[in-house]
Amino acid sequence: MPIVETLEDVVEAILKSRYLISLTGAGISAESGIPTFRGRDGLWRKYRPEDLASPEAFRNNPKLIWEWYSWRISMIINASPNPAHVSLARLEDMGILKALITQNVDNLHERAGSKNIIKLHGDILTARCISCGYKKRLDAPPEELPPKCPSCGELLRPDVVWFGEPLPTEALGAAIIHTHRADAILVIGTSGVVYPAGAIPYTVRENGGVVIEINIGESAITPIADYFVRGKAGEVLPKILDLIAKKL
Ligand SMILES: [Zn+2]
Repeated sequence: MPIVETLEDVVEAILKSRYLISLTGAGISAESGIPTFRGRDGLWRKYRPEDLASPEAFRNNPKLIWEWYSWRISMIINASPNPAHVSLARLEDMGILKALITQNVDNLHERAGSKNIIKLHGDILTARCISCGYKKRLDAPPEELPPKCPSCGELLRPDVVWFGEPLPTEALGAAIIHTHRADAILVIGTSGVVYPAGAIPYTVRENGGVVIEINIGESAITPIADYFVRGKAGEVLPKILDLIAKKL
């Protein structure tokens, strides 16, 4: 079991790396008050995620699906990036973090200042036409539900990856390139059970890279982690940043 004695070990591994990437999951945004996908929340408690986030569900009841997304969009707009998001943006500014691969569909990494973000599961603040591919940025939930495409009149849908759908080709391609360049990966707040994202740390490890995990509990990644730091990313990452700043 990889247990970290002190954060100094982690800092040393980070500073030794030449191509550090990060993989983030729902846990990092949960610290900003955004419930994880499987969180059981109020009004929507009676639905399983599969019943709301699938092409079939959308075909059956686009209004209901948009109501759910509108609720999530409002929550995200009202949330703020936490110190974990900010620390990752600073690591990128310092030239240490080369790419940030996220499973999250919120915009908290952007708002924290990260630039090279690869969104494996899409973006909840973009709506996409199901027919012509028209895309629209959302800065609030759509006023009329379900929203229609201004170009062709068909339905707009959230530009996110639903159950049973492939990942966006461009994001997947970029993720693969960075994964194969990486000699270290910082895995934060992911269960590691959703594929192919969950395979990324395994690939880095197979290529001889170092796997550093920060999580409140063990995950599917923990068995291959060289360093496992148990804790909230919003508390652990700023400490790591402070230690790095002292060494530079
Ligand atoms: Zn259209």
